[in-house]
Amino acid sequence: MASSSAVDLADIPSVDLMTELLRRMKCSTKPDKRLILIGPPGSGKGTQSPIIKDDYCLCHLATGDMLRASVAAKTPLGIKAKEAMDKGELVSDDLVVGIIDEAIKKPSCQKGFILDGFPRTVVQAEKLDEMLEKQGTKIDKVLNFAIDDAILEERITGRWIHPSSGRTYHTKFAPPKVPGVDDVTGEPLIQRKDDTAAVLKSRLEAFHRQTEPVIDYYGKKGVVAHLHADKPPKEVTNEVQKVLSS
Ligand code: ADP
Ligand code: AMP
Repeated sequence: MASSSAVDLADIPSVDLMTELLRRMKCSTKPDKRLILIGPPGSGKGTQSPIIKDDYCLCHLATGDMLRASVAAKTPLGIKAKEAMDKGELVSDDLVVGIIDEAIKKPSCQKGFILDGFPRTVVQAEKLDEMLEKQGTKIDKVLNFAIDDAILEERITGRWIHPSSGRTYHTKFAPPKVPGVDDVTGEPLIQRKDDTAAVLKSRLEAFHRQTEPVIDYYGKKGVVAHLHADKPPKEVTNEVQKVLSS
């Protein structure tokens, strides 16, 4: 007997079934891709990720989003992570490596993944490479969102997010149709607690000291592509698409 939580396909509108079928047909023709997006806070990783995700049928794994969800749900992991996050410091390597190890095995990551905000230390990169080696796969490309620190304060302090979808807006550069409201769901937008000029300073310090060496780590493997992340969003998207189709 089917369990009471099982979905009856007859209950799903035909248009939704057709859309999903077409999506799956399109995905079956796409090459697998395992990508890392690296860049300081505000460089545009979260803005470009949904576009890449849709183009290549990948899953989008943002460790910051996952950690914020754990903090909000007050899980043991969230309780451990909160203090470092509030201060703009990195949480321990073991916590995030555990999250990613589990997440990349999900069915939605079957055609590959976009890692956004991970790895942020060389230790995390080494652990990731070990995980992938066990699966017989490897990172195909690392997209380096290169940008000057000076641009980031305006981007970070003007950022508004829709927490459940991860959609990102900006008061000046990408305003929602109605201020404070998500375009798709009509739900309220929020500002992140760590998106202040003061916390940004520590986050940038952590980026330069702990994360920039990850770019050199993958540079030696010949998989890094450098983007001009200071350009307008559409131009950055064009650069990403060029890199991924080459
Ligand atoms: P990250 O995920 O790297 O922290 P986001 O993608 O969330 O960065 O972008 C930070 C803020 O800057 C958001 O409010 C976003 O709307 C805006 N933004 C993203 N890319 C650009 C861009 N190329 N030019 C101007 N603003 C941008
Ligand atoms: P983000 O949403 O990527 O800006 O991340 C928000 C915060 O989550 C960071 O300032 C860190 O405290 C924490 N965090 C996210 N990803 C990692 C990671 N890979 N390693 C350590 N800390 C992380």
